[in-house]
Amino acid sequence: MIIERREFLTKLTLAGAAAFVSNSPLLASVTPKKDKLGIALVGLGYYSTDLLAPALQLTEKCYLAGIVTGTPTKAETWKKKYNIPEKNIYNYQNFDSIKDNPDIDIVYVVLPPSMHREFVVRAAKAGKHVFCEKPMAPTVADCEAMISACKSNNVKLAIGYRCQHDPNIQAVIQVAKDQKFGKVKMITSAAGYVDGRTNHWKQNKKLGGGVMGDMGVYALQGARLATGEEPISVIAQASTTRPEIYKEVEETMMFMLEFPSGARAACHTSFGINMNHLQVNYEKGWLKLEPQSGYSGNKGSMSDGTVINFPIKSQQAKQMDEDCTALMNNTALIAPGEEGLRDIRVVEAIYKSVATGKSVKI
Ligand code: NAD
Repeated sequence: MIIERREFLTKLTLAGAAAFVSNSPLLASVTPKKDKLGIALVGLGYYSTDLLAPALQLTEKCYLAGIVTGTPTKAETWKKKYNIPEKNIYNYQNFDSIKDNPDIDIVYVVLPPSMHREFVVRAAKAGKHVFCEKPMAPTVADCEAMISACKSNNVKLAIGYRCQHDPNIQAVIQVAKDQKFGKVKMITSAAGYVDGRTNHWKQNKKLGGGVMGDMGVYALQGARLATGEEPISVIAQASTTRPEIYKEVEETMMFMLEFPSGARAACHTSFGINMNHLQVNYEKGWLKLEPQSGYSGNKGSMSDGTVINFPIKSQQAKQMDEDCTALMNNTALIAPGEEGLRDIRVVEAIYKSVATGKSVKI
């Protein structure tokens, strides 16, 4: 049986509408009435260049209005390629003057994780809504400061959890909500790829590197979304097969989560292993997804024969359009700052478990 698409989407919309009611007149007042919101990308590396800028050519609720970069040659290339007016191009020093630019409604921070806090706080102080890439930041304290800065400046903060906008992942969330196969008993969740680089921020502790924040949050999200619960304890082990490269941070992390219902998850993440799957065993059935966190093609099946395979044009375009719709209508975001914080709380506990060799309560 293939899930009836219309019925499934209706369910999602209703569930979403109920969960997303929010009534802040202050927040409503800061999103100007426009057909399309202007986004400025901060940090023009791989993800901005290869995924977000192309997705912004497909979006209906937003467009690439500006850029913030520390590299003048990139500014020139992007200006020509995307027809960006000179007045919407900033560097890291003059970035704060973005507050006077009505073309920019949203600042999207796509920098190494250790820089997220500074740029989210500066964007919030400039009165702009903020999208911030995962992992939200290296520490819980950073995440709390980012949430607080956005609140006190009456702007909204969304984390770039593209998968939460993917109907294939939403199908997993829905199974947990409906208890379709009863309670979750056991989860296996993995996310990894082979990173051949030797001197990137992902291998640098000060810049927020380490596989746990980078790919590990996908393995963690798999388990959190499949249960619909927050873990109460974790035990973790870090390892590396390339100590000459992974001197400061872990190449591989294995962590076991315990959830309040008694469900357990065995999660794996690595910069040295290609893996991307989720298996959920319930009281009365199972669900499998592979891949579970791809940019496209996430797909799977369930023990009753249900196929999960909803094609989407661009996950990133859907994410940005849905987040912009939430800003325009002043409704709740699918993955607000608080959702990024939930993951970083677990990430901190994982590092504590590695340091102590013991299980850590969350
Ligand atoms: P990248 O290294 O390709 O780009 C980082 C950018 O930051 C570069 O333009 C670089 O010039 C700039 N930068 C400024 N100061 C820097 C410094 N001190 N050190 C290093 N770079 C500096 O990285 P990326 O892969 O584009 O990742 C950026 C962010 O996007 C990260 O938070 C990452 O986790 C996230 N990301 C998310 C996804 C996703 O699927 N949601 C995918 C890839 C990356």
